Amino acid sequence: MNVAPPIVAAELACTCPGCGAAFAPGGRGLGKTFCSPPCRKRFHAASQMDGAVLAPLVKAWIRTRHAKPDTRAAEICRFARQQLTEIAGVQFGRDADAGRDPVTFVGTLMDSGTRYIDRTRK
Ligand SMILES: [Zn+2]
Repeated sequence: MNVAPPIVAAELACTCPGCGAAFAPGGRGLGKTFCSPPCRKRFHAASQMDGAVLAPLVKAWIRTRHAKPDTRAAEICRFARQQLTEIAGVQFGRDADAGRDPVTFVGTLMDSGTRYIDRTRK
């Protein structure tokens, strides 16, 4: 009879991107990403608020990033990039205060193979 090796607690621990707490993985499908549903909701609400501010700036920056120098488009590109950097700095501070780690979350998404473009319906 085969006996499964003992499971070490460290192997079970996942880090919640919403609060930084360690939790045991589980659940169906791809498994849990967050420690609890309220934590997941708080993380996504905060991400949506952050994204609403950044989205138009990212779009403007992408559209103008190859603009010819000394044009209005180049000026808009510089402004958008500067604003993105400044706003992201503020958001990093808020994330750190709340224990949120967006880098961990993106790593989890990357590891799952899930891409935003695959989740959208056309
Ligand atoms: Zn959490």
